[in-house]
Amino acid sequence: MRTVWVLGDQLNRRIGALADASPSETRILMVESEAMIGDRPFHRQRLHLVITAMRRFADELRSSGFDVDLRRSPSLRAGFREHVAEYSPSNVVVTEPNSRPVGDLLTGLGVGSVRSNQFLCHREEFAAWAGDRTRLRLEDFYRWQRTRLDYLMDGDEPAGGAWNFDHDNREPPPRDVSWPEPVRSRLDDVDRAVLADLPDTASDSDPDGWWATSRRAALARLRHFVENVLPQFGPYEDAMVSDNWHLAHSLLSPYLNLGLILPHEVCDAVEDAYRAGHVPINSAEGMIRQVIGWREFVWGIYWLWPEQWDANVLGNDRPIPPAWIGETSTDMHCVRRTLDGLAERGWVHHIQRLMVLSNFANLVGVDPRLVRDWMRERYVDGGEWVMGPNVMGMAMWADGGRMATKPYVSGGAYVNRMSDYCASCRFDPTRRIGEDACPFTTLYWDFLDRHREHLAGNARMARQYATLDRLSDLPEVRRRARDVIAAVLDGEL
Ligand code: SF4
Repeated sequence: MRTVWVLGDQLNRRIGALADASPSETRILMVESEAMIGDRPFHRQRLHLVITAMRRFADELRSSGFDVDLRRSPSLRAGFREHVAEYSPSNVVVTEPNSRPVGDLLTGLGVGSVRSNQFLCHREEFAAWAGDRTRLRLEDFYRWQRTRLDYLMDGDEPAGGAWNFDHDNREPPPRDVSWPEPVRSRLDDVDRAVLADLPDTASDSDPDGWWATSRRAALARLRHFVENVLPQFGPYEDAMVSDNWHLAHSLLSPYLNLGLILPHEVCDAVEDAYRAGHVPINSAEGMIRQVIGWREFVWGIYWLWPEQWDANVLGNDRPIPPAWIGETSTDMHCVRRTLDGLAERGWVHHIQRLMVLSNFANLVGVDPRLVRDWMRERYVDGGEWVMGPNVMGMAMWADGGRMATKPYVSGGAYVNRMSDYCASCRFDPTRRIGEDACPFTTLYWDFLDRHREHLAGNARMARQYATLDRLSDLPEVRRRARDVIAAVLDGEL
């Protein structure tokens, strides 16, 4: 009998090696690796989600007649060796893994792999698309994906008459809008058994049913999103509000990243809702763009540019601020709300990740590799392939602009425009010097000043540098920035 080894982020009968597996010829191996669980301070809800989803998937496979060897072992390697010693399989195969280290491990163990269909664009197809292009542009990739996958296309033309409705999708937070409540599950004995086994992480809340841990529950959330949330998704994608954590976000990334649902299932549901007239084109297009555009672009870049993983072009070398690891608190309302949201649920939306946390880390000069690893640990949907390009390429500009033409940095003005945070903050987003100056605003100008060598020649930054060069208070900004950075790293801010 052969063995199919199912990794913890490939939990779907339709993926790779499982797609044509039959219970009479195939035994399943799944390994809960103590090394992976305990080596890093992962968010308790991330560990709970992954392990519970693995256990439920093992039960689902057993119900389909498979003999499943789900074992807790010191490491993936040890689990594999224990399995082989116990069952002597005729051969062991795995679906192509979603990370380089696991790929290297499997190669070292001599485990063969089956081509993965977990993404709509296989990494070899992405490499072929990239070819000898001098610059890889998301927009080009997205249009290529739209056309070849035939999503939101009317013949050769994009549905709605445009490829991109971003100009409709950058609305600030609205007044008096009620956001549909996400679906929530009750925790059961499986959840409780997993939680009892987890290492303690004092600052993280336990799961409260927000995250689905089975395919069935994930599909229910997909239906809920498309029917009730998607119409509002587009316009307020980038808005942040203090009293609501989910707004109109899909909350589907953890399930896509674990394989519980597949990208075509999301896109098919969105397309059907648009064609039925239930959602406007800007919402449908915004969602399809996230799934077949950005998500698959990041996936392809992860494999194409392994050197991006450790890049640090700006030479940032400061540590993660103490407030980010629960040692102290911060008075910056936007940062505090975002960190609180992460501790409560292991999730905040993309603008909180990009324009609050990563932006601030970059302005402070935190080592991007530390930010990358911290984000992998904190987010329920964090994975190596997700955080590599998202953090090193886009958020921290650590690859020197290979992926994003200019750094995603801003002062307090952006946060003030896109959120209600500043109204309840002790700092003033319009001020760059003085005791009540917003740290983002002070550090933004200091960042431009510090990194002139890398950024001043960038045509997209010309306006900012022209303004910087007119600042008569730049020496005071520099002094204030030094104080702010010291306070952040000392845990006083
Ligand atoms: Fe954040 Fe500055 Fe606004 Fe305070 S004033 S919430 S620190 S952007």
